[in-house]
Amino acid sequence: MNNRTYDFDLFVIGAGSGGVRASRMAAAEGAKVAVAEGRFLGGTCVNVGCVPKKLFVYGAHYHEDFEDAKGYGWTVDGVSFDWPTLRDNKTREIERLNGIYENLLKNAGVELIAGYAALVDQHTIAVGDKRYTAERILVAPGSKAFVPDFPGSEHAITSDEAFYLETFPKKVIVVGGGYIAVEFAGIFAGLGAETVLSYRRDLFLRGFDGDIRETLRDEMLKKHINLNFNSTISKIEKLSDGQLQVTWQDGSTENADTVMYATGRVPNTKGLGLEQAGVALADNGAIKVDDNFQTSVPNIYALGDVIDRFQLTPVALAEAMALVRYLYKGQPVVMDYSNIATAVFSQPNIGTVGLTEEQARGQYSNVVIYKTGFRHMKHTLSGRDERVFMKLVVDGDSDRVLGCHMVGPDAGEITQGLAIALKAGATKAIFDQTIGIHPTAAEEFVTMRTPA
Ligand SMILES: Cc1cc2nc3c(=O)[nH]c(=O)nc-3n(C[C@H](O)[C@H](O)[C@H](O)COP(=O)(O)OP(=O)(O)OC[C@H]3O[C@@H](n4cnc5c(N)ncnc54)[C@H](O)[C@@H]3O)c2cc1C
Repeated sequence: MNNRTYDFDLFVIGAGSGGVRASRMAAAEGAKVAVAEGRFLGGTCVNVGCVPKKLFVYGAHYHEDFEDAKGYGWTVDGVSFDWPTLRDNKTREIERLNGIYENLLKNAGVELIAGYAALVDQHTIAVGDKRYTAERILVAPGSKAFVPDFPGSEHAITSDEAFYLETFPKKVIVVGGGYIAVEFAGIFAGLGAETVLSYRRDLFLRGFDGDIRETLRDEMLKKHINLNFNSTISKIEKLSDGQLQVTWQDGSTENADTVMYATGRVPNTKGLGLEQAGVALADNGAIKVDDNFQTSVPNIYALGDVIDRFQLTPVALAEAMALVRYLYKGQPVVMDYSNIATAVFSQPNIGTVGLTEEQARGQYSNVVIYKTGFRHMKHTLSGRDERVFMKLVVDGDSDRVLGCHMVGPDAGEITQGLAIALKAGATKAIFDQTIGIHPTAAEEFVTMRTPA
């Protein structure tokens, strides 16, 4: 396929979720492909995102599992937690995955180039002092954590560093209201740190269903996480004993070992030479692309976090598949971003797909809501005061289910199945005709009969 005018048919910048998938799939279609990676194979998700985070969530949940076991007759005395064991076992697993990614790329015939890449012009890429040319270039450098600039902000860490902390903090202040902040507050608290979650508005997880946000707030309070809403940090100072002293906007102070900012992620476009190649950016720094991920420069494409549509791994993977089909199979696919199911690995988990009640009421005139809350069967014997919450958002005119939302154990696992039903356009009548699996929590999604 290579017309030999260029070194490669496709040069990919960034071996993350989107870049690896696009490289492998394009090579499988016969393209001569290179991928440059500056930091870690597999990108954010594998190294400092989804994977290590989920391992930490599992680790943090043992805290409650040991307590809950007592009601089932187990004696669990002398339980203790060793941070270096969890941290280093996690790192070993990540290194194993790095190796798997390397083999996947090599076996697909993709040339792997270690180093940071930058565009020199429309068809030329520089990595260190080497120059490569390519017919097409895919820019997939992901996003990076954003920390606002304020006095002492250099003392704050982000999720990147949280995965590698030298010592586990006794007290942590997590700042932010998105899913990463909420998940890390649960991780730190579960692993035994006194945890404060600070957010500048009155309730976290903006954009999620209101009932879900309130349910999670109540459950996190039960777990003794100090939720400090409507708060901002104006200053952080490092004290002589290494502690961080935080000054809140009202002038009061609080000390902590660690302050972690999870206040959003921005497209990772710095130093890529995009301006030089003439690639247009949106106001928020994201690369502008059309339906086929083509940038303002016809042979340069971009996808994943850097285009800032949905910052999720499965979205980057789907975009990569769509791009390869378009470029190498002549089958343009317009990505369907509706009904993308997501989970928040908070404690307890959130699972959600489709419209929130608030969104549905803005778009439909006859919205019918079904909801239920109950104690999970497991906790009848454990004695834990934790509630499960489930909600269906239905269009009363067409009977179509517009949204499914849940807070509770395994919410992410349960919601993945519901997402198929929503994608297929299932009505509430079909949910009602579906026979439940008993005894599960999930069966409640097909047994809700009375509108709220
Ligand atoms: C803490 C955290 C938890 C997350 N949890 C989830 C989750 O549970 N589920 C989910 O779906 N998503 C989750 N995400 C989001 C997910 O990780 C991203 O959406 C996904 O990784 C985006 O893929 P990408 O290919 O766009 O970028 P990335 O995976 O970030 O890959 C980009 C790669 O490009 C490299 N790179 C950057 N610039 C250059 C350059 N100039 N030259 C060479 N290489 C370069 C980077 O080193 C990186 O490896 C999480 C993210 C974070 C931070």
